Amino acid sequence: MSTATGSCLCGAIRYRVDGPLRPVVACHCSQCRKTTGHHVAATSAPADCVTIEGEPRWYRSSDSAERGFCPTCGSNLFWRRPGHLSIWAGTLDTHPDDLKLASHIFCADKGRYYEIADGLPQAAQDDPALALATRPG
Ligand SMILES: [Zn+2]
Ligand SMILES: [Zn+2]
Repeated sequence: MSTATGSCLCGAIRYRVDGPLRPVVACHCSQCRKTTGHHVAATSAPADCVTIEGEPRWYRSSDSAERGFCPTCGSNLFWRRPGHLSIWAGTLDTHPDDLKLASHIFCADKGRYYEIADGLPQAAQDDPALALATRPG
């Protein structure tokens, strides 16, 4: 079983993932852009595989989801809904070598100041096949 660790900028929030990480998905929706200042690059793991130390603050950004951030340094770390936790890949300290960016979602909402030119699959909106499946194993 693989283990990954990460934290916010100031270290008040730390986390450990004991289990598989989903390949990284870039989300270009307006909520992700607003909360991070650009777009999000998120991995995810089953919520019961993740141990969080410290007290993230959770902002309810929609009827079904919350975004977690450090109340001290403001780092964006998590997006969650029942049974699912996304983790912003930039907050990882250690992770398996094979964790890679794999796709883009909500491309119809992307910022106009950049292009997506890496050749990876793009979905105009959400795409469960690209975004929500946790890598088996
Ligand atoms: Zn912090
Ligand atoms: Zn998004």
